[in-house]
Amino acid sequence: MPYVITGLCNRHGGCALACPVACIVPGNPVEQWPYYYIDPDACIDCGLCVPACPYNAIWPEENVPDFLRADIQGNYDYFAKGPGYAAQTL
Ligand code: SF4
Ligand code: SF4
Repeated sequence: MPYVITGLCNRHGGCALACPVACIVPGNPVEQWPYYYIDPDACIDCGLCVPACPYNAIWPEENVPDFLRADIQGNYDYFAKGPGYAAQTL
């Protein structure tokens, strides 16, 4: 189970700097993808992104609180259906 970013994210970016495999990216365009997202296929479950987030926005998927669980799918969709890594070069 990968780590996921929830709607508590405010795009300040600390998690992306902490990730050793560079699998966290800012969602683009912002109007459609308002948070940062974790690539679930690339995440190695190291947990280093969690203390880098001052807003407690990042959780292991299995531990996401109930009121945030609807945000889990966005991490999958951003890479499977959305622009994914390609948007980072725009
Ligand atoms: S758990 Fe590790 S590999 Fe996964 S997104 Fe966080 S820092 Fe990156
Ligand atoms: S550190 Fe937290 S608030 Fe900042 S971009 Fe990552 S998830 Fe969002």
